[in-house]
Amino acid sequence: MASPRRVYTHPALREFDLIRTIRRRFGRGDAFVVQSIGDDAAIVAARPHQWDLLTTDLLAEGVHFDLRTATFADVGFRAVAANLSDIAAMGGQPRYLLVVLAVPRDAAGSQIQQLYQGIMAAGRPHGVRLIGGDTSASTGGWFISLTLIGSVPPGRALLRRGARIGDGIYVTGTLGDALAGLSLLKESTGRSRRRSSPASLSSRHRRFLIQRHLRPTARVGIGRWLSTNRLATSAIDLSDGLSGDLGHICKESRVGAEVDTAALPLSSACLAFAAARKIDPSALALTGGEDYELLFTTPAHLKTTLERTAGQRGIPLTRIGTIRPARSGIYAITGEGRRQPISVTSYEHFR
Ligand code: ADP
Ligand code: MG
Repeated sequence: MASPRRVYTHPALREFDLIRTIRRRFGRGDAFVVQSIGDDAAIVAARPHQWDLLTTDLLAEGVHFDLRTATFADVGFRAVAANLSDIAAMGGQPRYLLVVLAVPRDAAGSQIQQLYQGIMAAGRPHGVRLIGGDTSASTGGWFISLTLIGSVPPGRALLRRGARIGDGIYVTGTLGDALAGLSLLKESTGRSRRRSSPASLSSRHRRFLIQRHLRPTARVGIGRWLSTNRLATSAIDLSDGLSGDLGHICKESRVGAEVDTAALPLSSACLAFAAARKIDPSALALTGGEDYELLFTTPAHLKTTLERTAGQRGIPLTRIGTIRPARSGIYAITGEGRRQPISVTSYEHFR
């Protein structure tokens, strides 16, 4: 969940360049490393019948969460959901968790307890076991870092680099909800330039959007279903926003993409939020991060199988576009049929 858009503003941490440099200069694997830096999780093939998946994330108070609007249980839940989502994007089964905490000196024991309640509430349904971590004092707010270890049968991991020209592009669930929820929370603390106008949105819609931000659901079952049935050629989870994450798939797969903005799946709450704030809902869907839905590609010959089985199992999937040659770039077809390039810098721009 180290959301690049959150660190764009830090001049020393323009994350895309940073990671590219680290990957090129220091990212060396060995005979067991199937996937090093550059996907949702690393893959190590140290055992005969299983690939291990490893992912880690850091949440910093004031950057990734605000304790005026999130409880400690929310923070713990969301931290785990972000890691679960990276394992889901690899098609894997999450298994073991390590938790690293830096705790301000004035913190209470009950706050740490609540944090762990949130962590376990997110992990337990997936059978995740807490097996270690580290603890320190902090002079600058809370820091929570999780490392999640998962597994996938050899050869079955969903990578960012497998998309092929002609593949359909699919997403799970609805997009833009978490950004709308975050915007509502910011309005409530006065951190947004917009004045709060709660009357324009029903309390049901407000609650739904805020929950989508504070308590996201990782799509672990759908990721495993895709990998077990070999239904996807590539996958990523939506942590940075559709435009950025589709950009990662295209870059790693050396392809371009066409997105049909009219097809983007939007919840009724997100539509109501966009109408109340007079913003384009498809901009929310394209740029909004941290929905933790899956974005994946499926070849044309598997389209019917994918869509039919998803329908039978009640799996929420939407086809939003098609993989194109790299030279086409990444573009959207708008409702009026206009072709518009999709820029990767998302959230800051939208704000
Ligand atoms: P995600 O949003 O899926 O969590 P990130 O954008 O955080 O992915 O990271 C992309 C890739 O870069 C991953 O392979 C991750 O392990 C790697 N990465 C991120 N930060 C660092 C770092 N400081 N050093 C080494 N690798 C990093
Ligand atoms: Mg990811």
